Amino acid sequence: MDINKEIEFPFCKKHKIERASFLQIKIEEQDNVFKCAQCVLDDNQTKDYLYINTIFNSQDDYIFQNWPPISNQQLINDLIELVQDQSDPIQMIEDQFNNFINEFMQKIQQKKKQVLQCLQQLYVDKAEIQNIYKKLSSKDELQTILKQKVDLEKMNMDLKKFFFKSFEKKKQTNASLQLLVQRIKYYQDFPKMFNLEQHKNSIFEQLDLIDEKIENSNLFRERLGQQQQELNLLIQSQNQTDRIINDSLINKFNENLININQVRLLNKKEKFSDLCQSKLIKVTYDINKDIISIYKCQDVHQGYIYFSYQLQRNKKYIVRVRFNDKGGKYIIFGLVDQYLENLILKTKQGKSFGDSDTKYGGKIVQGSYFNEMNKDIIIEMRIDIQNQQIQFENNEKSINELQPECLLDANKIYYLTFYFGKLKNQLPYETLIDIIYFQEVDHF
Ligand SMILES: [Zn+2]
Repeated sequence: MDINKEIEFPFCKKHKIERASFLQIKIEEQDNVFKCAQCVLDDNQTKDYLYINTIFNSQDDYIFQNWPPISNQQLINDLIELVQDQSDPIQMIEDQFNNFINEFMQKIQQKKKQVLQCLQQLYVDKAEIQNIYKKLSSKDELQTILKQKVDLEKMNMDLKKFFFKSFEKKKQTNASLQLLVQRIKYYQDFPKMFNLEQHKNSIFEQLDLIDEKIENSNLFRERLGQQQQELNLLIQSQNQTDRIINDSLINKFNENLININQVRLLNKKEKFSDLCQSKLIKVTYDINKDIISIYKCQDVHQGYIYFSYQLQRNKKYIVRVRFNDKGGKYIIFGLVDQYLENLILKTKQGKSFGDSDTKYGGKIVQGSYFNEMNKDIIIEMRIDIQNQQIQFENNEKSINELQPECLLDANKIYYLTFYFGKLKNQLPYETLIDIIYFQEVDHF
């Protein structure tokens, strides 16, 4: 934004050569808000100022540490900290869960490995079982006895011995076999011991505690919804309060403002048209009296100037012009639109002086048509673009205004203009007109 380059802020009242670059926000009624850098340096309370450049150049997301006024200053600090915080809560939740999943998986894998290692140590080979059984049952010995065939009597004896011996070893065999069976059983039942169902359930129960937190945040969201409604109501009522405060401030300040002359707003804004001798017209600004003087010498037969200060349709303007002499026969002042299209034809949105041309500002509202110039005659113009009208009032309390066919166009941009002409048989004349007062107001 380059607005600040176009606007020339006033000089500091205290340090005359410095232009204001700060606004003082904590002010007394009689204070001026415009302050220069030196003023701020002289004041310990820098928090009471706003830097104009920052107001113009900062992005929408810029937060002033000292604006708007609030009761708890910490809130602004909190807000700034939060806005500057780059962390992304969505990513944080993603990370938290992903880490949890990863660590959880690792832990389970680790437990699985430990259990399998343990199982491996208990491993029982089926071939080994057969070997042990073979040994305990002495099947080989039995086979050997039966294979003798030849001597049945001996075989009978050997078998008797074998069985007898086997029964003798019954207890011992039983104990060995029992151990074997136990071992196999233990191995086979091992998975049952590590039934993970219970662990799973208790972990799931733990995880379900997250539901409570979700439930809490739902409640928080509902409460935020209610608070948003309250906030909307608050903003609504704040707008009302704004209006009420505005109205009372307008009344309060209007009394002060009523006599504020803003002629300086037009200073150096004069533009000279290409028409005839326009450029010979002289415009000077008296800084002490706040007066702009427009001087037309005898050599100018036709010409006009305008002030390139845009008049707003939502504002109203009071302009006071003072004559210093009888002038010539044809002077018009009023407004010209931005296309300057009606200027060659003389502005129709103005009032003519010196000649009773009732086309120009000739509608009488009160008193009579007035067009006389004389030393110290003051004419007041009240410009109201929204209502398409300019009223001209002279000392004698006659009020004239624009003809219905010459009304302003509320959609156009207008500038204040002064036109000087000369009727055919008229002698050349010189004249001096002063703009002694200019004020932008919200209401008349
Ligand atoms: Zn200063």
